[in-house]
Amino acid sequence: MQILSIRRSIGTFLSLISLVFFNNLPSHAQQVSKQSTWQQQCDYDIDVKLDDIERQLTGKIKMTYTNNSPETLREIYIHLWPNAYMNNETPFAKQQVENGSLDFYFTNDSCRGNIDSLSFWVNGIAASIKADFNSSNGGSLQHQKNLSIDIICLILPMPLAPGDVCTIETPFRVRIPKVFSRLGWGYDRETQNYNFNITQWYPKPAVYDANGWNPIPYLDQGEFYSEFGTFNAKITVPTKYILAATGNEKSKTDNGDGTTTSIYKQAKVHDFAWFANPDFRIVSEDIILKSGRKVVSKVYYIAKAKKITDKDAFDKVKSYSKALNTIKNTVEFLGSHVGEYPYDVVTVVQGPLLAGGGMEYPTITVMPGLDATTIEHEVGHNWFYGILGSNEREHPWMDEGINSFYEDWYKNRLDSNNAVKTYAGVKELSAIDQHYILYQMQQTAALDQPIKGHAADYTDANYGAIVYGKTALVFNYLREYLGNEMMDKCMREYYNIWKFKHPLPGDIREVFERVSGKKLDWFFNTLIGTTKTVDYKLVKAKQLQDKLYITIKNKGGVESPVFINTKTKTGEEKAYTLEGFKGKKTFEVPCKDWKWVKIDTGHYMMETNLRNNYIKRGFLFKGKEPSHIKLLGIGQSNDHNIYLDPMILANKYDGLMLGIMLSNEIVPLRSLQYTLMPLYGFKSQRIGGMADVTKFIKTGNKKIYMVEVGMNFRRFNNGKFKVSKNNNDTLISYSRTDLYVKLLFGKKNPRSLRDNNLTFGILGIEESGKNIQTTSRVMSFSTYTYIEFNSKDNSKLNPITYQVKTLKGNATRLQATASGHFNFNIKKKLYYRFFGGIVKSNSTYLGDRSNIYASGNSGMQDFTYDHLMPGRNEQVYGNNIWSQQVLTRDGNMHIPMAGNFMSSSWLTAANIELPLPSKIPFYIYADINVYNGTDPLTNKQAVTSLYCAGISLPIIDKGLTIYIPLLYSKSMHDFYKFNPSIYKSFFSTICFNLDLNRINPTHRKNIRINNFM
Ligand SMILES: [Zn+2]
Repeated sequence: MQILSIRRSIGTFLSLISLVFFNNLPSHAQQVSKQSTWQQQCDYDIDVKLDDIERQLTGKIKMTYTNNSPETLREIYIHLWPNAYMNNETPFAKQQVENGSLDFYFTNDSCRGNIDSLSFWVNGIAASIKADFNSSNGGSLQHQKNLSIDIICLILPMPLAPGDVCTIETPFRVRIPKVFSRLGWGYDRETQNYNFNITQWYPKPAVYDANGWNPIPYLDQGEFYSEFGTFNAKITVPTKYILAATGNEKSKTDNGDGTTTSIYKQAKVHDFAWFANPDFRIVSEDIILKSGRKVVSKVYYIAKAKKITDKDAFDKVKSYSKALNTIKNTVEFLGSHVGEYPYDVVTVVQGPLLAGGGMEYPTITVMPGLDATTIEHEVGHNWFYGILGSNEREHPWMDEGINSFYEDWYKNRLDSNNAVKTYAGVKELSAIDQHYILYQMQQTAALDQPIKGHAADYTDANYGAIVYGKTALVFNYLREYLGNEMMDKCMREYYNIWKFKHPLPGDIREVFERVSGKKLDWFFNTLIGTTKTVDYKLVKAKQLQDKLYITIKNKGGVESPVFINTKTKTGEEKAYTLEGFKGKKTFEVPCKDWKWVKIDTGHYMMETNLRNNYIKRGFLFKGKEPSHIKLLGIGQSNDHNIYLDPMILANKYDGLMLGIMLSNEIVPLRSLQYTLMPLYGFKSQRIGGMADVTKFIKTGNKKIYMVEVGMNFRRFNNGKFKVSKNNNDTLISYSRTDLYVKLLFGKKNPRSLRDNNLTFGILGIEESGKNIQTTSRVMSFSTYTYIEFNSKDNSKLNPITYQVKTLKGNATRLQATASGHFNFNIKKKLYYRFFGGIVKSNSTYLGDRSNIYASGNSGMQDFTYDHLMPGRNEQVYGNNIWSQQVLTRDGNMHIPMAGNFMSSSWLTAANIELPLPSKIPFYIYADINVYNGTDPLTNKQAVTSLYCAGISLPIIDKGLTIYIPLLYSKSMHDFYKFNPSIYKSFFSTICFNLDLNRINPTHRKNIRINNFM
């Protein structure tokens, strides 16, 4: 345990030092937003051989580098991206862990990879390099222009003057990793064949442009930037392999030694990828472009020949012909809206990939499945990254975002051709709706980031929701504003000027503003540059003769165009576009006898509040569309709905409970979120249930970014018992009301996985007993105030979560908990929890429930009713399975003792669960408590210790854990001995922990995109 915290503090210390000392390194932030008129060129001759047994490549590369810049170059930065797979210290490896993937971290050396055997010669003269092979030096996640293990700086033996050309030659060997991201090998158990994705694999110069050198370490989240040139690649593979590669196959020769050599050539591209698999089969078709030029489209699919039946074969051919059709449609769609596809070949390859659903390379893309959506997206990348070679790492919106916009547009066109599918009355979401919901989820939770960011600075969720999704939305908005024709005109001009070049954000802006004649500050500065939101409000509409005067207020932060529709009583509908404005404005439009006015009927404006976009003449609730009541709580939420869901719950005392859950949308988060759930218990014949109302207030402040004000209520029955033999049954119940204010603290780095928050709350607990026949009632009501600080670590690797809590009521408590796990590998973890608590009781009653308990905490000790329990009072009144339930609180000893060991002053605890080796699912657990308490048998008060150890079995990621105590303290043995009603047999020592709070329906408000990943 200590090792962990020491490692952490060393880490913090080192990062502090690096902050102090390395902060003045040249930062890689772009200084200019417009590209220069010159551009470097790099042509490649590569000769490489695949050894499939050793899973390595050996070869040599010759780069012919032309310096078209006005400066003399003395060094050239070279990427050695296979080194990303060398160890756990590379920027790639660190990002994998941060993004929650531990596969690479825990892999063995034989699955890692690297590039070596390098020896650089420039113009025939041996050249030296500056490199740092020993550390990742400065964590290139901060994208500083210093070296990481996969970047070297080649010192040119002689300066390269403007206009000069040099050749750079080196042999190389690539040890191919298993596929963890893009480059790698896969193995097919069925055909017993290896397959290879050879991507980001050869030494390659960084781009030198208007901003100087752009060296970038290999990352999974974050793509590339490379110089254009011509590739000549000679690839030798064992003859059984079928090859797919960038460009055209010029020749193929059987070498007679069991190997085959193919030569590929392609001009005007900035990357070269190839794929080899003996199980590839090919379907192909010619596409004739509008210009009459022919493009060959190919699909390389994986066929497992042994098992294919005739029907399978038929189905496959059918589905692959479908894939060819998707390629053709995409090439035609982007050809007409952006610019003609300039290459002779377009290929889609089926292959393993762990970096997203598909990956693009010039003229060729790879994806595990061959679904239409992925093909559209990846083939689309031929334009946005392939031909328009923007800096994907610095400006990912320029490739992923714009490409997603065209993907949505293409799909939308398909959707309008075919009727939109509905499932159980719920409409299937369009691609644009899906992007809108993801963006709204992040925006309403105050977790969004501006579109213009660097790829590695986004959280895992925002990389998809913002870079892809929100960019697609803002371009859809721009398209609606400019009109399809003008949009195409702008994009075609952008294509014509910048094809085979490196446009920067200022360049695309220049083209769009010049061609459209519009000032697009609202678009490029605000929508792309900030997280400000669009919210126009219809204030009023007034008819004066033939004119309708519409007053609109801009309540958002963007002065963007407004789309308005008016409808007359005679059914005439008209659409208007207003230029963006600040504050309140009144517009007049010709309109007779108006019926309603709406803002943004087509949902183009990404409006964050759709409730103020509508006015109906004479309607009572002006400005609000009526709420809809729906049966299923599926979040299709372009407006406000009320959801009614049937609920079934059960506990020991209420029996089966039936009821309804009434709630508003949870996706995306509403600023006022509510869930009401009345339930009727068939056994207790009483009404209980849960309710939760939360107001989320975005503060706009960086330190406390959100304030949550909430009320959470619960009421259930608790048990039934007879006070004495002749008495009637008494039914006891509880209600718990929690009123709180929670402050959510902002993070300096949005990618930090630690969430800190502070809660101030008041708890009201009512416990009552009701005599079933006389209906007389006894009631007690207690209130507590509490302050709780939580620091939750969401990392997958070795997380530690802290909690400090004070509670004041009948007693005063102060407690602190640290808990977490340490990963031995992906599955096996050591779980730990440390606890310390002090209590100052107002009563001298030893059994006071607010005391700190050591062993077998049950429902009775949960005096603030924090836990959900099916049989809360069974340890007291019953004797069945529910009496074996223990709770994670206080001393947390996993042995049911009805809370007989306790302290009314202080207690400390350590709980550890250690996995057994190999495939055994069991753990060894040990609990130790040291406390000042009273022995239940001798009544002596002393500082004493207890231990308990045994076997545990965690199920569903510790949602349910079963504990079998095998060794425990003598005082506990004695206690069992003298209490035969508690100890009947060995089986009554077995206990279980059940975490029902995880599935509490009123916690649904905390759903975030990350919960789905
Ligand atoms: Zn993409």
